[in-house]
Order: sequence, then C-alpha cells, then structure tokens
Amino acid sequence: MNETSFFGDVITNFDKAAKYLDYPSGLLEQIKECNSIYHFRFPVETDDGVEVVSAWRVEHSHHRMPTKGGIRYSLDVNEDEVKALAALMTYKCAVVDVPFGGAKGGIKINPKEYTANQLQRITRRYTAELVKKNFIGPGVDVPAPDYGTGEREMAWMVDTYLALNPGSLDGTACVTGKPISQGGIRGRREATGRGVYFAVREACAKADDMKKLGLTPGLEGKRVVVQGLGNVGYHAAKFLQEGGAVIVGLAEYEGAIYNPKGFDVDEVVKHRKSTRSILSYPGAKNISSSKDALELECDILIPAALEKQITGENAARIKAKIIGEGANGPTSSDAEEVLVNKGILILPDMYCNAGGVTVSYFEWLKNLQHVRMGRMAKRYTESSYSQLLSVIEKVTGESFTPDERERTIQGPDEEALVNSGLEDTMISAYNEIREVSKQYKGISLRTAAFISSIDKIAKSYLEMGIFP
Ligand code: NAD
Repeated sequence: MNETSFFGDVITNFDKAAKYLDYPSGLLEQIKECNSIYHFRFPVETDDGVEVVSAWRVEHSHHRMPTKGGIRYSLDVNEDEVKALAALMTYKCAVVDVPFGGAKGGIKINPKEYTANQLQRITRRYTAELVKKNFIGPGVDVPAPDYGTGEREMAWMVDTYLALNPGSLDGTACVTGKPISQGGIRGRREATGRGVYFAVREACAKADDMKKLGLTPGLEGKRVVVQGLGNVGYHAAKFLQEGGAVIVGLAEYEGAIYNPKGFDVDEVVKHRKSTRSILSYPGAKNISSSKDALELECDILIPAALEKQITGENAARIKAKIIGEGANGPTSSDAEEVLVNKGILILPDMYCNAGGVTVSYFEWLKNLQHVRMGRMAKRYTESSYSQLLSVIEKVTGESFTPDERERTIQGPDEEALVNSGLEDTMISAYNEIREVSKQYKGISLRTAAFISSIDKIAKSYLEMGIFP
C-alpha cells in the first residue's frame, strides 16, 4: 500500500473535514499551507572535526500570535515532518482554545551521539540563528520540548535568547517547558501524559460510546499498551495506572514486554535503567519488535513514540478498541480508514496530546505576569474558608477534625491550578469534538476535531476582514 507523506496526511485530513464547512477555497488554502519555512545549516565542532547540521523552523499559521511548537532532535527530522507537525500545532491550539498559531522546529541529529557540551553548543547556535531571522520571541514564536529535547535544552535556549536581547522584560516567555528555576511552571513536565490520561478517562466515561465498543464505562481494569516510555508515554502510563487501568504492555525501541496480569510502570523504568533494556522484565513475555506490540491484545493502545506507527500495513491487525494518540501523527490516513471501519475509537493527536501546549500556555502567561500562579490568592482563600468553617461550627455546634479542616481550607498552589486548568481544558475539548462528531452523524473524532479547529481559524480570519 502507498503511504503519503506526513504533511500529505495532514492535508488529506484537512480536506476531508473542510468538505463539511462552507468557506471560500482561498481562505481554506490560506489556513492549510505553511506561512513561513526556514531551513538552515550550521557547523558544529565534534571530536572528528567539523560537521554541518541541518535545521528547520516552520511557522504554519499567524492567525494568532505568537506561534508555538516544539523542537525535535532526531535523525528522521525533515522538512515534510516539520511542516506536518507545525500544521498539527495550529489545529491543536484551536481545538483546546489556546490562542497561538502553530509552529515546529527540528535539528537533524541523533542527540545520543553527542556530549552534553556539544548539544549545548548546537542548541545555542540553533537559537542564535532563530534570533537572527526573528523566528523566536515571546510575541513572535515560542518553542517548547519535543522528541529528543527537554528542560535542559529549553534552559539553554532561554539563556541564549536573553544574552542576545539584554534587558528584555518578557524574554523568559521566549520558550516554554523550562526548568522551574528558569521560569518554568510546575506540572509542565507531566502535562502531555496527564492530558492523555484525562482524554482517555473522559472517553471511557461515556457509557453509550463504551457500549458500542463492547466495554464497560470507566477506566477501572482497562488493559493498556503504551509505545514509547519517554516524557509522554511514561507519564500517560503512570497516570492511567493510578486511575485504575492495568498496564499490560510497554514498548521501547529495543523491543517490548507483555504481561496480561499487568506490571508497575515505575518498576519497569527501574529495570530499564539498571539493565539498559525494557526486555526480560520479571514475569513478562519479551516481544522483539516495538511495532509488534501495537498488535497486542488490549483495550486501549497509546502510541507515544513517533509518527507513522500504525499504517495501512498493520492497521487491520490492531486489537485495541480505543487508541489514544500520545505521539503526533502515529496513524497514517489510510490506516485511519481501516481502524474506523473496524469501529475503533481514535482520540486524535491534535486533541489527545494537547496537554503539553495547554500547560505551555499557562507557563507563557506566568512569564508575562512575572508572578507564580496562586501566589496572591492562596492564603487569602485559606483564611476565607477557615472563617466559613468556623461559622458553620458555631451554627451547628459541631466541630471539624483538624484533618477535615486542613483539607477543606486548602488554597490552590501553582501545581493545583495548572492541573485543574488542564483537566478542565481536556474535558471541555473532548465534549466539544464529540458533539461535532454527533452533529455530522458519527464522523471520526479526528474529522470532528479538524472541523472544529478549521471553523475557529476561518472565523478569526473573517473577523480580521482579510477575506470578503
Ligand atoms: P521523548 O524523547 O521524551 O520520548 C520518546 C520515547 O520513545 C523515547 O523513550 C524513545 O526511546 C522511544 N522510542 C523511539 N523510537 C521508538 C520505537 N520505535 N518504539 C518504541 N519507542 C520508541 O519524546 P516525547 O516528548 O515523549 O515525544 C513523544 C511523542 O509525543 C512525539 O511524537 C512528540 O511529538 C509527541 N508530543 C510530545 C509532547 C511533549 O510535551 N513532550 C507534546 C505533544 C506531543
């Protein structure tokens, strides 16, 4: 079967959804193509001499500013991939009502082949190149971590940006996903995985949808397989386990493990750290290829590694009833058709993994406000609740235990506010796209999510008065 390009898949999904909407073709064209594509090369000194690396930053849509999207370090990075991921960011932000346009960046390297010093030099040089061309800034374009990058790289980026923009008052808002000490926000590290958990939990809560899948409502006891034990996969697996699901399969690039009785995610991570492999975990069956793990017997499959994992080639063999896309683009468009025909419920990437950008938005707001969320209100809330409890005690003549009092009066701190904002966002967005899917007689959630986001973006262009 012929596989289209990743960006081609995004276009296919866009066109499928656009048919349900009545917007001028010029406007749809403006939305779907990438606005700015910057491909550049720069030299890096390694032990073997000087190597020239390729890098990209793509800004897909400027209908909202700044643009926003992660930075990926991988040998598979290419222009098609960065364009696709930038476009997905636009639609993702619209689905969860985060007021950014979409962007994405990448450097074509295998980060495992470089020392920390070399990676620092590469990251700082990449940032300086973005500054030179005005592809980074709190009101321009705001990167974040993605595959192969994390808090450390974001700290290097913000430091480089501030060095080149001395005195910039809002400069720390030039990237998100930073360490807390560098202006990061509590809960960002776990946000994408936690968002995947909220998405799956919300989907499982709909009794009528679960009945159609032959499943009972609720997360309790649902068997889950997760591919990729990185930031997204690990946290998704951990929160799903804490929420009552049973993790029966875990896959990494070296292979996978399966135990129908389930295993503890943190114990598997410890085992992988000490043996340098996920394989041979006590009591679990080894599976030699990560891709084979996608076909394991389970209720919920979470691909959380890379794109194009479920394709026309293996889609028919997928046994899960629900797929929660932790990764971006794990399902190709021809695979989607096969899965939908099998009645599988797909929670699309542009919704399911939107927790990261949602909390990145909170971090950006924190940086612009220059104050930690909850700092002003926490104690005030606690003292108001405490007074309220005292009045209740006086009126009823009954007393609360110290434990009851402490739990009830608790004012929200930064982490509690972030998690609550994330939970609310994921629940509201799910119900919004589910309603669209019902409105158009059971179209897939992906098409519904595209319809919802294209509609929001088109309205914003029309209200700008750009299109008649
Ligand atoms: P990461 O680098 O932290 O983790 C990726 C993991 O996948 C690594 O542990 C890697 O070893 C593993 N992996 C690589 N190839 C594999 C294979 N063939 N089979 C199984 N495992 C494999 O990256 P991440 O940030 O967790 O990103 C994973 C996916 O989630 C990407 O598609 C990314 O675009 C998407 N995503 C990430 C975020 C975020 O906040 N980090 C947000 C939204 C979407």
